[in-house]
Amino acid sequence: MMGKTKIIIDYTKCGNATGGIDPRTCGICLKVCDPAVFLMHPPLNVKEENPYDPQYWQITAVWLSLCTHCMKCVKACPQKAIKVIY
Ligand code: SF4
Ligand code: SF4
Repeated sequence: MMGKTKIIIDYTKCGNATGGIDPRTCGICLKVCDPAVFLMHPPLNVKEENPYDPQYWQITAVWLSLCTHCMKCVKACPQKAIKVIY
C-alpha cells in the first residue's frame, strides 16, 4: 500500500511492567489485522533477564507497508495503545 505509515504502540499500556497488560493475554491486534502487520515477540536485546517475563513481551508493527489504514487495530485495542498515522 502507500508508504509513510507510522504505527506507534504505547508500551506503558501494552507489554510493559508499568501497568500495561501482557500482550500474550490479549493479542487482539494480531487477530483483527488482515494483512498481519504486527509481530508479538520478546525484545531481541534482552540477554540476562528472563525472556519469558511478561514485561519483556511486546507488540511491534513490523510490516508497515502492508497496512491498509483500516483502523481495526486502533478500535479493537482494549488498552487504546495503538496509533496509526499516515
Ligand atoms: S490499521 Fe488495519 S491494516 Fe493497519 S495495522 Fe491496524 S488493523 Fe492492520
Ligand atoms: S490489542 Fe492492544 S492491548 Fe492487545 S496486544 Fe494489541 S496492542 Fe496490546
